[in-house]
Amino acid sequence: MSDENTMIRRRKRVKRLKIYLVTIFLLMTITPSVASVFAINHLTKLQKNVDELTDRLNEFQDEYKANQAAQIAKENEETKQAVETKETEQLHYEYYEENYVVPEDFKRVYLTFDDGPSIYTSQIMDILDSYGVKATFFVTGNQANVHPEWYKEIVDRGHSIGMHSYTHVYKSIYESEVSFEYDLKRIHETVETAAGVDCKLYRFPGGSSNEVSAVPMQNLCKMVKDNGWNYFDWNVSSQDASNVPLRSVDIVNNVVFGIAKNDRSVVLMHDAGDKYSTVLALPIIIERIMAMDKTVILPIDESTPEIQHLSVPAEMLEDTGAGENEEVTQ
Ligand code: ZN
Repeated sequence: MSDENTMIRRRKRVKRLKIYLVTIFLLMTITPSVASVFAINHLTKLQKNVDELTDRLNEFQDEYKANQAAQIAKENEETKQAVETKETEQLHYEYYEENYVVPEDFKRVYLTFDDGPSIYTSQIMDILDSYGVKATFFVTGNQANVHPEWYKEIVDRGHSIGMHSYTHVYKSIYESEVSFEYDLKRIHETVETAAGVDCKLYRFPGGSSNEVSAVPMQNLCKMVKDNGWNYFDWNVSSQDASNVPLRSVDIVNNVVFGIAKNDRSVVLMHDAGDKYSTVLALPIIIERIMAMDKTVILPIDESTPEIQHLSVPAEMLEDTGAGENEEVTQ
């Protein structure tokens, strides 16, 4: 009897132990699964929230961009209307008359337009003409085959023409001295053929201080000078090369504030199909400069003292007679 009782108790203990083990086993397998289901559910909700927020952010950004573009377009349109409705005074500087010497103490401003000729060159010159102002156009060869007459028009209307490379493709121009020289000769011939001018002014694409050239820029500067030519950079930028279209009012401010710092300003602007805000800004720029005391707008010519970001020491140059104009003040 006692043995039987012992057996029964043992069986019960084994049975309890089994239940205990099965319970632990079930808890260990089911709990993580249940927890995972909850976690996945929670993550899905979070992801949904993130997606919704991203969508809203994108919508907001699109709306902001559209508003900004509309604002710029509106301001440019207002500027255009203001320019068109304004009765432009036909102001003519007497210093364009022959033999007129600009007084020493006058500030000099040289307006320069890069990358043309373009669909706007003629319009830019109309504006310059209406104020009796001459400027400088640093041209590329981009229109040489289709509109050679555009190059000639610049010269015929009394503006200065300068070279700004044939292709304007930095990678190929600045690949080697040989490729630079090839491009340089090509744009010189283009201007000679199209405009009938033995051009002696050059502006490096990106300026003489550009950091994309594979050859030391000083070698290329020397090459230009050894031809008996000269190169000009700028000390005032209109910033109109920015990828974001600039408001005309910003272009005006950049130029006007820049000029205020110098006795002699070479102003960088662009003459290109996507730079209409520069065209709109031009009349205001000219008027603001004309309103400055003892300040004149002049075209760059061979006697203009250079503004260069990187200069070539005289002892490095071949004797071409270049650089003998340093004393001339205009
Ligand atoms: Zn350029």
